[in-house]
This record gives sequence, C-alpha cells and structure tokens, in this order.
Amino acid sequence: MIIVTRPNVTDAELDNIRERIETLGMRTHLSRGEHRTIIGCIGDETLLHEAALLSIAGVESVHPVLKPYKLASHEFSNGPSIVRVGDSAEVGGRALAIIAGPCSVEGRDMLRETARSVAASGAGMLRGGAFKPRSSPYAFQGLGEAGLKMLAEVRAETGLPIVTEVMDTRQVEMVAEYADVLQIGARNMQNFSLLSEVGRVQRPVLLKRGMSATIKEFLMAAEYVMAQGNRDVILCERGIRTYETATRNTLDIAAIPVLKAETHLPVMVDPSHAGGRVDLVAPLSFAAIAAGADGLVVEVHPTPETALSDGDQSLTLQNFEKLMRQIRPFAEAAGRTVAGPRTGLRVEAA
Ligand code: PEP
Ligand code: MN
Repeated sequence: MIIVTRPNVTDAELDNIRERIETLGMRTHLSRGEHRTIIGCIGDETLLHEAALLSIAGVESVHPVLKPYKLASHEFSNGPSIVRVGDSAEVGGRALAIIAGPCSVEGRDMLRETARSVAASGAGMLRGGAFKPRSSPYAFQGLGEAGLKMLAEVRAETGLPIVTEVMDTRQVEMVAEYADVLQIGARNMQNFSLLSEVGRVQRPVLLKRGMSATIKEFLMAAEYVMAQGNRDVILCERGIRTYETATRNTLDIAAIPVLKAETHLPVMVDPSHAGGRVDLVAPLSFAAIAAGADGLVVEVHPTPETALSDGDQSLTLQNFEKLMRQIRPFAEAAGRTVAGPRTGLRVEAA
C-alpha cells in the first residue's frame, strides 16, 4: 500500500500517519520528493482495510501495490535511485559507472598494476574476488582475507572503491569491513539467508542475476536485501543460460529496459561473464549502454593468458583503455557521460 501525502503535509502529520500504520503491525518507508512525500506500507495489507486512511490529516490518496516487490518498485520511490559508493563514486547518475578489475585477486602486484591502469583509463571502482565461487572444488578458490587486505591496500593507494564478492553468511561481517560494495554472485542470487544478512549491513550491494532467474525472481532477491533496511542495491545483468553454446551465457538485453520499467534501482551489465569471450566484451558493452544500462562491470587482467580464473574473457590493460574510448559515442547517444582518466587522484602520484 502506498500513501501519498498532501503537498503541505507537516512533520507532525507525517509522524502521526506512520504511527497509525505501525500500530496496525505494518512497517513504513518514507520517500520525500520535491512536491509529495510517499509513505510505503509493508506487511499484511488486510490489516489496513479498517483504518480509514483517507481521513487521517495529511493523507491525499491511498494506492494498493499489486506487484510482489514493494521497496524495489517505482511506487515506493520518487524517481530513479542513485547508489553512492564510498565518497567518490555513484551508480545511477548521468555518468556511467565503470567497475573494472580481475576476476580474482591473485596477488598484490597484479592488483596494483590493474588498479592504476584502469583508474587511468577512467574506471571508477575496482573489482576483484577474494572468495571465488568455482564450479570445481579443485580450482583456485581465491585468497580469502589476504585478498581482501590487498584490495584495501590498493584502495588506499589509488582511491578506487572496491567491489568484492561475499559467498557465505559467515563472511559478511568480515567482507563488509574491507569492501565498499558487497557483490552477491549469480550462484547465490536466491541464497535468501545471505540476501537478508547483507540487508542488515550498511554497504551497497551489487546483486548479480542468477543464471536461470526470471526478472521477477531477480527483483524479489533485491527485495530480500531491501526488506532488512539496506536500500542500496545495484542490479547486474550478467547473462542467462540458454541453449546457445557459442557464448558462455546469453546477455538478456531486454532485461535492461524491462528492469528500468519495473524498478527505481540502478542496472549495470557485466559483458565479461555474459559473453565469456574477449572479442564480445566491446559489442555487448555498446548494446548495454544503448539499451539504458547505468554502467559496466568488466574483467581486466595484466596478462589474461596466466589468469587463475576467467582469462578467456578478461581484457588486457590496453584493451580496457581502448574500450573506454570506444564506449564514448554510445554513452553520448544514450545521454550519458563517461569519466575521463582519474587525474588528481592519489593514483597519479603513486
Ligand atoms: C564474478 O564476478 O567473477 C562472478 C563469479 O560472476 P557471476 O556470479 O556473475 O558468475
Ligand atoms: Mn569471473
């Protein structure tokens, strides 16, 4: 249920409306706009039927929300959300957000080299997995906390906020101590206890779409995080599994405008895991930007041929620099901007 207030509603009236709803056993969520304030009511709507909501001072109209996701829906928000990351980055604004870095943190030197280079090419955030969800238990599983420490060190040197995956509820507290953005991987998109756990920490969440998840399931996963109080969710389309084997996954381009129509949350695209091939990263990036994506998550490695994971889809430092130049006309056509090299940052002096 959404309650829209009168334009001149007072703070006392707002408090009173919320109190009336909350005493009925529902939770409220306030979204203040320039002209109207929206109060979202979350919980069992049948409780509200007796409440004569329209008679409460300050209430202008009352609307049921028929979608299963509430906090993620447009009705609960006054326009598109911008998720702020650290004190230098944001996702959902006019500038495209670019997250770049290796699939896995493999060592301090390779991470530092990658971070400096991608920052100089215009990336706004550094990615790198310390805990890796690998199909084989015998494959490289990531450096764990040592990898998180390296990410934090490189952030201190370059100023780049860090994005890294958390795979397990038991790791959330530790990963949140180091990371600026908590990544939930495709394989964990419906790990409901993990979603709730990251919902309880105040760190933006990069939620990747499950490889067999519908858009509705994807948004319900976001709702799990938001329902615990963490509203800073960034959605990431990373390709879904289809019958096609020429590509690692099939990038669901239509998901971008469909998500934009359904939710106020920002939508990023990961062309690396979608295509699984270096030669597809640029064309998929162009298509994503043209379709309205708020940014890209790109795997970059100094020597992809030696990468411990996902070398086939990782761009070299030079090819990432080229990609950043190539996306400019697509960004401009879509009404977006692309950050230039991060001049003036500590990266320059390092
Ligand atoms: C990753 O980002 O390295 C990753 C494992 O991605 P996904 O969860 O989308 O497969
Ligand atoms: Mn990867």
